[in-house]
Amino acid sequence: MKSFPIAHRQISLSILVRFASILGFVGGVVALTLSFMNPPPAAGEGVPATEFSSARALKHLAVIAQRPHPVGSAEHQVVFDYLVQEVSRLHGLAEIQSTPAPSEENHPQRLQNIIARLKGSDSSSRALMLAAHYDSVPGSPGAGDDGSGVVTLLETLRALKAAPPLKNDVIFLFTDGEELGSLGARFFVEDHPWAKDVELVLNFEARGSSGPVFMFETSKSNGRLIREFARAAPYPFTNSLMNEFYRLLGNDTDLTVFKRARLAGLNFAYVGSSWNYHSPRDIVSNVDERSIQHHGTYALALTRHFGNLDLRNVEAPDVIYFDVLGRKVFSYGQTWNLVLTVFLSLLAAGVSALGFRSGDLSFSGLGLGMVLFIANLVCALILATLLPISQVGPNAVYYFWVLMVITASIVLTTYVLGRRRIKVDEHCAGALLALTLIAAAVNLALSGGSFLLTWPLVFSLIALAASFSLKRRFSSSVAVLVLVAVCSVPGIVLFTQMLHNVFQGFSLSSPYVLVILELLLLGLLTPFLKYFRHE
Ligand SMILES: [Zn+2]
Repeated sequence: MKSFPIAHRQISLSILVRFASILGFVGGVVALTLSFMNPPPAAGEGVPATEFSSARALKHLAVIAQRPHPVGSAEHQVVFDYLVQEVSRLHGLAEIQSTPAPSEENHPQRLQNIIARLKGSDSSSRALMLAAHYDSVPGSPGAGDDGSGVVTLLETLRALKAAPPLKNDVIFLFTDGEELGSLGARFFVEDHPWAKDVELVLNFEARGSSGPVFMFETSKSNGRLIREFARAAPYPFTNSLMNEFYRLLGNDTDLTVFKRARLAGLNFAYVGSSWNYHSPRDIVSNVDERSIQHHGTYALALTRHFGNLDLRNVEAPDVIYFDVLGRKVFSYGQTWNLVLTVFLSLLAAGVSALGFRSGDLSFSGLGLGMVLFIANLVCALILATLLPISQVGPNAVYYFWVLMVITASIVLTTYVLGRRRIKVDEHCAGALLALTLIAAAVNLALSGGSFLLTWPLVFSLIALAASFSLKRRFSSSVAVLVLVAVCSVPGIVLFTQMLHNVFQGFSLSSPYVLVILELLLLGLLTPFLKYFRHE
């Protein structure tokens, strides 16, 4: 047996140490990002009367989500009576809009919307409306969907009454028959005289029983809405890709009806533990109280904000937007998308030119690097469709991590196998160039998703450029490694958020989306590859 020289072993050890440090760094940023992906803490009954308290909201939920209450059931009447009693107690008056449902539809039951209108201080202003539906599907107590939306409205109404009035009127609409096709919402916009006073609707929904609340849908021409939302929402979880994606899915909530009636609107929902949605398990004890608190922080903060704004001309051209760590929303117009796409393409071309000049890149090597990246994408996608992991449920998170580790292993194996045929710089530049082409296509076809690749790619390309131009100036590669690490942070944060959001919303029902996202991230991280080998 051949014995390895000492030097070789030391090199292997130093590569191992570097590999472990890089893995630790990336894992640390992922873990830190995930630690932000939670709703705000629950607020007890002791918080001031002008604030939203999930504990106070839960008391209502315990009453209205005891049993399934679909339209026409005896329990539905019990919930209706309780809401009328509570709205009257809080506001002094509850308006009932009542009708037999249209007879040509298969729902002969009577529909009853419950409405309260808080007068604003400026009688000439337009109205803001908060909406949630109080019917459930048959067989589900509807604690999350949409009991949590209903109690969010009740607690918000109470908190608003504890403070001086806002400038605009605020209408609270508890719709009936949402689960039958938004019948109550349709009835309101078609028949109620207050509908024409409304300029903006905030709709509260649930498609699960835990997790942060996403502002996942806006009306068209959302530029001004997003700017104001970014100013006022305390824990904003949102991005324009969700909005576009939701539009493509073609799902409906009451907001669909409001939008069709040309009202501006924002739609809110939490989607974690989605296996409880529309099931007998949608009960109070399964609902995460923090998700209700998150609903409430949006409802109260945005009502106070929009309640004091001039709501005329609420429309402005659509923008691209995304939150960072649920704390800050960035947004910009479509023109900036084009400018950034051109800038990104020029940057990629410039960095490649730099690589050719320094002798680190060859045309064939760069081409091979691109092919390798695309081949990885295809391999992992095939694997994702073959693996029997499309199950959902509380254990899905373990399968999720297995999927992530398998995908990462495929990518690393390809790298190890390919390293004799292709230089590490070419592997990296090939991946980043392929990503730039993908980004350009995404930016033009689906501008709402453009932020996801554009910003991280700018940083990854800077890291690659640095490794081309700085490496001869620094005797130690540590300075460049630090730069590579810093430049990797935007990609890790944005993609961890996106992976989290997709997993929350769809669990493992579409594993290939998760695999694509992970592969894009791994492509962005290729500037690290240089430090996995001895030069
Ligand atoms: Zn619902």
